[in-house]
Amino acid sequence: MSIVITGATGQLGGLAVRHLLAKKIPANQIVAVVRDLKKAAHLAELGLELRQGDYNDRASLEKAFAGASKILFVPSPDAHDETLRMAQHTNVIQAAKEAGAGHIIYYGYAFGEQSKLPLAVTHVSTEEAIRGAGIPYTFLRNSLYTEVFVSPDAVGAALQFGALVANAADGTVNTATRSDLALAGAAVLTGNGHENKSYNLVSNETWTFGDLAQIISKVAGKDVVYQPVSYEEQKGMLLQAGLPEPVADMIAGIYQGVSEGETSRTSDDLKNLIGTLTPLEETVRQALQG
Ligand code: NAP
Repeated sequence: MSIVITGATGQLGGLAVRHLLAKKIPANQIVAVVRDLKKAAHLAELGLELRQGDYNDRASLEKAFAGASKILFVPSPDAHDETLRMAQHTNVIQAAKEAGAGHIIYYGYAFGEQSKLPLAVTHVSTEEAIRGAGIPYTFLRNSLYTEVFVSPDAVGAALQFGALVANAADGTVNTATRSDLALAGAAVLTGNGHENKSYNLVSNETWTFGDLAQIISKVAGKDVVYQPVSYEEQKGMLLQAGLPEPVADMIAGIYQGVSEGETSRTSDDLKNLIGTLTPLEETVRQALQG
């Protein structure tokens, strides 16, 4: 019996593997399900078993999930096509059921029912499908990643122009880092009493883009001010930077969501699972290091 992790070649899944190993779970008890075995040599080197499984191919997932006591299910990144993503998630759930998985731990989206973002619908529907399949579950409902807003590019641009430009108005932000969210996954995989529970993995204290500008100034030693802009201005800048229109719409839409309260809700769930959360200042430092 083993812990199976999907999306293990990705950032969140990869960090979950690291946290499990740090918690002294033997590598040979962890199975990495990956769509391309060639991309997973680094995981084999750590001692993990690799199995091929593609979200588009239910039969491959059934084989990959054989003997799984617990599955950490990282959602598909294909958020540009929510119909495809839901079909992929249905494959994962049916395969887990066929394989007789004992517990499925799904990374969803925090406060999904109240969200106005299109991506939330798939997460809520996936949770419903998992409940419907009758597999014991834990829903780890992730915040947006802090790194979505505090990337090396975003911090670099703020320093270059002396301004952090965003259509976030005075919205408050409840993000957590990928690593903290991955640690929550490892905590649930190695802990007890999490069956059939849902956790909203957001921070217990929020920040604003004004706060972020101040922290960038402090860490980099150079003045940066927050400059709020409109949705149209933000989208125009993203298009000018060469992003395709659907991507520009999605990013400007996320910042707009922040301005409208999308990221304003707090919870102690993440803190209760992992203890101290990574401070925003630390993520800024990491972004500055590239
Ligand atoms: P990531 O680095 O892009 O990882 C995605 C993982 O999914 C990779 O391992 C990828 O495999 C795998 N994958 C993609 N298509 C697959 C398929 N057809 N079959 C099997 N595996 C497939 O994303 P992340 O940063 O770890 O985030 C994890 C997930 O959270 C994303 O997939 C997305 O659903 C969601 N997300 C959340 C936020 C947020 O702010 N909360 C932001 C972005 C994304 P390959 O290595 O082969 O590509």
